[in-house]
Amino acid sequence: MSDGLRPQTLLTLIAVVAVMASGTVRAAAPSFDLDLDVELDPATRRFHAVATVAPAARDFRFELHESLQVTTASADGKSVGVVAAGREGPISAWRVRMPAGTARLRLEYRGTLPALDRDLDERGVLRGLPPMASEDGSFLSAAGAWYPQPATLFSYKVTVSVPGDQRALVPGRLHTESLPSGVSGRYRASFEFAHPAAGIDLMAGPWLIREKVMPRANAAPLRLRTYFPRELDAVAGLADGYLDDTRRYLELYEEEIGAYPFTGFSVVASPLPTGFGMATLTYIGAEVLKLPFIRATSLGHEVLHNWWGNGVYVDDATGNWSEGLTTFMADYAYKERESGAAARASRLAWLRDFAAVPAGHHQSLAAFRSRTHGAAATVGYGKSAMVFLMLRDAIGEDAFGRALRAFWEEHRFANASWSDLQAAFEKAAGRSLAPFFEQWLDRAGGPAVKITAATAKAEGGKVRLTLTVVQSAPAYALHLPLEIVIAGRAELRSIDVGGLRDVVTMLVDAMPEGVRLDPELRVWRVLDRAQLPPILRQWVIAPAPRWVQASDAGDVREAATALAKRFFEVPPRPLSRDALNKGAEPVMLMGLHPDVDAALSDAGLPSRPASLAGRGSAQVWTIERDDGPPIAVVSARDAVSLRALLTPLPHYGAQSWLVFDGRRVLDRGVWQAPGRLVAVQSER
Ligand SMILES: [Zn+2]
Repeated sequence: MSDGLRPQTLLTLIAVVAVMASGTVRAAAPSFDLDLDVELDPATRRFHAVATVAPAARDFRFELHESLQVTTASADGKSVGVVAAGREGPISAWRVRMPAGTARLRLEYRGTLPALDRDLDERGVLRGLPPMASEDGSFLSAAGAWYPQPATLFSYKVTVSVPGDQRALVPGRLHTESLPSGVSGRYRASFEFAHPAAGIDLMAGPWLIREKVMPRANAAPLRLRTYFPRELDAVAGLADGYLDDTRRYLELYEEEIGAYPFTGFSVVASPLPTGFGMATLTYIGAEVLKLPFIRATSLGHEVLHNWWGNGVYVDDATGNWSEGLTTFMADYAYKERESGAAARASRLAWLRDFAAVPAGHHQSLAAFRSRTHGAAATVGYGKSAMVFLMLRDAIGEDAFGRALRAFWEEHRFANASWSDLQAAFEKAAGRSLAPFFEQWLDRAGGPAVKITAATAKAEGGKVRLTLTVVQSAPAYALHLPLEIVIAGRAELRSIDVGGLRDVVTMLVDAMPEGVRLDPELRVWRVLDRAQLPPILRQWVIAPAPRWVQASDAGDVREAATALAKRFFEVPPRPLSRDALNKGAEPVMLMGLHPDVDAALSDAGLPSRPASLAGRGSAQVWTIERDDGPPIAVVSARDAVSLRALLTPLPHYGAQSWLVFDGRRVLDRGVWQAPGRLVAVQSER
């Protein structure tokens, strides 16, 4: 390494360092489609940039956020005019005609960026952001039009300069870097991205940088970094833990898929409450970086996106396969490694979320683009991951792994579609998978399957078991695991069905007591009620939710109103107490313990579960009913305890019940729901 670091050396940057690619001798500066020189002053939010663009066409159109004004424009040194070409919301379109014989356009532009909006919640962040600056952190999202984009996909070099103890970065290879010195007092760094990129996100913040160099057997070492604010960096072992875990994930996926395609990976702390994955880095809320599940799950998910999404690109026209594949190979794979029970709990959570999507709101997997609301995530993450699981179950682990490695080799740094994936899996499996992909991608929803009759009859020394299996229309071709209970012991088989009504027979050793379909939940389908305890997400994503105030006190009503506003994806309609049993849409009952108990009793509903009574400062639970609307209850000791749920409660959609002490969850869980054992009738 040019800076004399040995692999594995931990470095906190305290002196001026200049970093060059190891062993590279540059004969000539490479030319990028976009070369940006940016100066940002987060305290005043002043932004100044010089862009050198190689436009794809002589008639060059680009967009800039309304806060930015072009001050000079020239083509190969000759001044050119920039004219307004329309406007959409806060984004203005501009147009330049490149004079004949000119190749590169130089634009100088400046402005004062909007202030960072700290009130953005996760849903707001997912909707796209303007470029925003503050001393606590600046985020210039690619969607915020802070630079002139030369083409749909383009290469770039960005040099960024920020004052004092601010640091800044964009995705790409760190090319040069210098810390503030007496003269300039500014931090400067330049980054290169030589592959086709769809956009550039720029981040700055008051960060300390830590670095570890990760050696690799057959490739150049990787530069791993954390960009954490001082107080986060000071948390014992945290930054080091992130660097070590990043290395572990990179090694895992290099082994499973192929060599990591970039020169480093950074974990960057954001003042905003969510996580973004970009090529070469992840930008995660500083608050959540302290939570253990981020390192255990989200970090691996974002690292893997460097292969799926930022390595092989998703073609927006043909659907997003990358979230499901990433969820399957990261989040779900970690659960599989943990235990069979943990993996089953993940599958149950996906199927539960699916069952909670109201009829008529289903979307096909082929139509999934990105996560904009809960119902879309159910398909784009849950169903998609389950489709990859069913595919691996169908073609075997070897063929599955080979297909993914070949897909990676063939489509690196290019758009790929579901049909490219299908082709890779078909080649590895040596057979057509068209019916599989057609039914799981193009159809919305999923099959409801059940055994309607099970009979058994002695035959020779054995017993012939005959099952009638029916499913909802349209029928799916399904490979269904089947549990057969004989003399109290469970035996696992599988059956294949493909029609609305199939009769399946098989020989077993002795007279079975009962049978159960897909007990391990390995097939995407509509679970029946016996397998589906109600969970809070059914309320969160309800299209027409309703709520009832159990208490009359002003401060309690105020806290409940704020919680109702925060909890549901669409504003809930208030109901009077005597309407608890009316309608079919989910209802949430909120108030203080005695008022909630009285309301439940007046409505003839089951009383507070004994397992929750008397615990913590607030209790939340769902009520399973055979008729009437599903009811969720939020019951608190006082107004303060109710208000404390405002931030945490919306994050617990996967639970049936919770006990809170203030903002902290003391206990939580999902109601028990045994699958249905279908009794086997003996035939004479
Ligand atoms: Zn993702």
